[in-house]
Amino acid sequence: MVIDIVTVVPDLLSGSFSHSIMKRAQDKGLLKVNVINLREYTTYPRAQVDDYPFGGGAGMVLMIEPLVNAIESLQKSTVYDEVIFLSPDGKKFNQKMANSLSLKNNLLLICGHYKGIDQRFRDHFVTQEISIGDYVLSGGELAAAVLTDSIGRLIPGVLNDETSALSDSFQDNLLAPPVYTRPEEFRGWKVPEILMSGNHKLIEEWRYTQSLERTTERRPDLLD
Ligand code: SAH
Repeated sequence: MVIDIVTVVPDLLSGSFSHSIMKRAQDKGLLKVNVINLREYTTYPRAQVDDYPFGGGAGMVLMIEPLVNAIESLQKSTVYDEVIFLSPDGKKFNQKMANSLSLKNNLLLICGHYKGIDQRFRDHFVTQEISIGDYVLSGGELAAAVLTDSIGRLIPGVLNDETSALSDSFQDNLLAPPVYTRPEEFRGWKVPEILMSGNHKLIEEWRYTQSLERTTERRPDLLD
């Protein structure tokens, strides 16, 4: 899968994907993340990419021309399954959306900045608008990093048994059960005995019950 990210602050994304599971995904050739600097696609002097909003008001708006130059240039070599604009008024991101996006071949993520981007780009080029939550960030970069990480780790072949996504929260609409590791006892706090029993069937049942209890207590909405 290729994830291309268009941004005015490429530095915010540098390094985000060069560690841990994202690095492994790229080393295995299963994922390629390209960070594209919008300023390289403007024809305005001093690499200008934004301007004052028509009608007045605070903040700057990313202009449509550099965005269209960027997308049309990228589309010469890549056919995108989705062109995603990160935006607080988009559909709220969840694991189900991550699962379905992880099955695509090529994604283009557009990061807004300042007040946002010219609506005409959203109307004519964007195929999905996604928010990572009900709060406002300064730019779409961190949101793009969140999407890339959550989608990238789900690409078939990226995770191995130890890091399997199947036992993570939100798969099966359940939160994950508690986990423990060495030492067996610390300051008198013991690991639940069942986990030391070696009885895999009972352990699975215990984990399922814990998941269910935790979900009922913390996120009953998931069980609806
Ligand atoms: N004026 C806009 C907010 C602009 S914030 C509004 O009130 O809706 C600047 C940019 O940050 C946005 O264009 C978007 O790309 C990004 N952004 C901010 N919050 C976000 C969120 N919750 N999810 C995804 N992207 C977000």
